[in-house]
Parts: sequence; C-alpha cells; structure tokens
Amino acid sequence: PRQDEYRILHEADLRDYLAGLPEVAARLGGAPASWSVGEVGDGNLNLVFIVKGTAAGVAVKQALPYVRLVGESWPLPLSRSHYEYLALTHQARLAPGLVPDVLHHNEALALVVMELLEPHIIMRKGLVAGTTYPRFVDDITTFLARTLFLSSDLAVSAAEKKEGIAAFAGNHALCKITEDLIFTDPYRVAEQNRWTQPWLDATAAAFREDLDLHVAVSRLKLKFLNAPEALIHGDLHTGSIMVTEGETKVIDPEFAFYGPMGFDIGAVIANLLMAYLASAGHERSPGERRAFETWVLETVENVWSDFAREFLDLWRTQAEGDAYPRTLFEGDAGAARLEAERQAYMARLFEDTVGFSAAKIIRRILGLAHNIDFESIEDPKRRVVCEARSLRLARAMMVEAASFPTISTVTKAAREAR
Ligand code: ADP
Ligand code: MG
Ligand code: MG
Ligand code: MG
Repeated sequence: PRQDEYRILHEADLRDYLAGLPEVAARLGGAPASWSVGEVGDGNLNLVFIVKGTAAGVAVKQALPYVRLVGESWPLPLSRSHYEYLALTHQARLAPGLVPDVLHHNEALALVVMELLEPHIIMRKGLVAGTTYPRFVDDITTFLARTLFLSSDLAVSAAEKKEGIAAFAGNHALCKITEDLIFTDPYRVAEQNRWTQPWLDATAAAFREDLDLHVAVSRLKLKFLNAPEALIHGDLHTGSIMVTEGETKVIDPEFAFYGPMGFDIGAVIANLLMAYLASAGHERSPGERRAFETWVLETVENVWSDFAREFLDLWRTQAEGDAYPRTLFEGDAGAARLEAERQAYMARLFEDTVGFSAAKIIRRILGLAHNIDFESIEDPKRRVVCEARSLRLARAMMVEAASFPTISTVTKAAREAR
C-alpha cells in the first residue's frame, strides 16, 4: 500500500509502517518483529496503539473516518489528526515540557507518532482513586496561561493572530461536536442524551423547559462561536491530562481552534468540581476521602488564582501584541489605567470560565458522553445523589453569574452542595 493513502492500520501494518521510519525505529530499538504492539484507546474518537521496542516505546494515534464511540453511522473528518498535530507542536513551543513530543505525523494516514507517556496515568482515573497530584496546579496553570496568553492579541501581531485563526478554521467539524453536545443537546430532546433513570427524569425534563438556562447556555454557545481569543485546546478535561506525582502532560488537542479562553479554564475547573462531588460516591467509610476532597477544592481555587497571576505576569512583561498599544498608556496615570483594565479583563474571563465550567458539568450528566467520576459509582442511588448535587451547582453557576464573583464563592457553593 502507498504511504499516502488512508487505511486503518492494524497491528501488523503498523509494525511495518514504523519499521520504515528510521528515527522512530531507532528510538524503539531491536528488530521490528520483536516490538510489542497493542491498542489501548479508551477515548471516544480514535485508535491509540502503544508500541514497545527494546529501548523505548511510542504512542501512535490514528483518526478513524467516524466517531469510535458511535461507529460508522457518525462520520468525522480525518483532518482532525492534522489539527491535533498542529496544536501539539504549537503548544510545545508555547508551553515546553507540558505536551508529549511529536515524533512523526502522516496527514494522509491521519496518524501521529508521539512520545510514550509512562508511567503516567489518565488523571481522571487517579482522581477517582482519590490520588492527589502536588505538581498539577503549577503545571496546568503554566499550560493555560502560556498557551492562551501567547496566542492572543495581547501577545502576537494582528497578522500572526489572523494566520493562526486561518490555520485552525477548517477544524469546524470538531467544533460542531462541542456546539451540539455541550451547548445544545442536554437542553432539548436528543436521541443520544442519557442520564441516570428514573431518578433524574424530572431534572432532565426541567432543564429542557428552563428558559433562564436556555438563555445562559446560548450566550455561552455564541461566545464559543464568535470569540477567537486564543488557540484553545478545546477538550481539556481530566481524561486529556496524563500525570505522575512529578509530571503533568496535556494530550488529545484534536478539538483545538481559536476560541474563548474561558472554555479551557472552565473545562479544568468543571472536571475538578465533578471529581469533588463524585467523591462521596466512592468512599467506603464516611470521611475516608476528606483529605483528598480538601485538596481538590484547594486545587480549584489555586488553578484560577495561579492562572490569573501567571497570565497577568505575562501581560505585564510580554505584551507584544497589537492590543492596548503602549503609546496610549504612558506615564503613571496610563500605567494605572492599564492595570485596572487588566483586572477588569480578568473579571470578564472569570465570568466566562464559571459559565463554561457549568456547561461542561451538565453535558456529562444529561448528554451523550459521561465520565467515570460518576459512572464508576455502581449503585445508581448513590451515583444520582452526586449527579443531582452537581447539576444543582452547575445550574446556579450558569444562570446566577453575579453570585460567583470570585473562585472562593465557587468552592464554597461546591462545599455547600454536599
Ligand atoms: P481520543 O481522542 O480517542 O480520546 P486520546 O488522545 O485521549 O484519544 O488517547 C486515548 C488514550 O490513549 C488515553 O486515554 C491514554 O490512555 C492513551 N494515550 C494517548 N496518548 C498517549 C501517550 N502519548 N502515551 C501514553 N498513552 C497515551
Ligand atoms: Mg481523549
Ligand atoms: Mg504554573
Ligand atoms: Mg480526543
């Protein structure tokens, strides 16, 4: 078969393909016949193989022409692999050390070969097990502040920004998934929706009738559609973060495009809030997971506050973009006004973050794709208690933005939801 023709690679083809890439083959080490190849993909969309040689391993991700979770009836463009490659290489420049190294990309095969993350695990699994991650706040806030600030109009010229938007504009099929599954379907009758029945039937019905919520989520959807603020990851949940005690790596940026910054920050915070509210469902004795739960809420607070500090630091020191021209803010009075404007900007970004965070929670409980934070609570009566608390919190965060001016009001509400 030709190298530039798409085909789904099975284990033997993959071995031959990698054997033909001198750098990858050298990294793996040993004879190709001795390499182990196994498919490990647990995501919703793609195939992921882990290949191990005598010297090292690699991870190989290949896009399928359809959604893995649903099957061939739901086609999805292979080009998402190209956007994932573009995003990974861009993020590696903006936030070094926080994404896996890319070793090879074949656009026609929709395939990316990358550094094998080992012994990293998917953070969501660690959170379900009650594990705390001491480096997480530092790393994820650096990832967020650097990738978002350094791709925004605060940091780059208008020309560079527009080239960036253009480079990712073709990724609209992936954006459409978000537009439908996050911002629309959970609020209407949609075939793919599901929830813990029968206990959440009434809540799901109420969400389908709740016009305050419909207005709030539609405003968020509009922001997602028309605010190319920065190159966002687009799917930054705890299943897209791999961790060890000492390292954090962000994977799976196939949803990347120029969108609103709050969508990424909100994704991180939403997933921590769900880890917190699901925790009661995982305890075997009352209070068993208290230290973990305390850490999770501290982490929510620190994610926002460290992110804001790092973002503002970058703004004060690396504002090379066309926004806020320096000559308009000269002297002490100018500097003071600009600093006040930075604080106002952060307040608006925080409001977006709270709203997007709420949207991310609701879709995991009433929409198509659920998460193991809740799903692994086997007793549905225990699970639904956690889910109902999360929905109540998320609804308040979405429609009562004014009640959540600071991150501590969010963690306080989460604590009171229990
Ligand atoms: P999808 O887009 O289908 O969600 P992901 O990129 O999230 O695919 O990868 C699916 C799974 O494959 C991850 O949950 C993780 O277990 C594994 N994986 C992905 N990339 C790597 C990597 N570089 N090293 C080790 N495991 C990986
Ligand atoms: Mg994934
Ligand atoms: Mg940091
Ligand atoms: Mg993915």
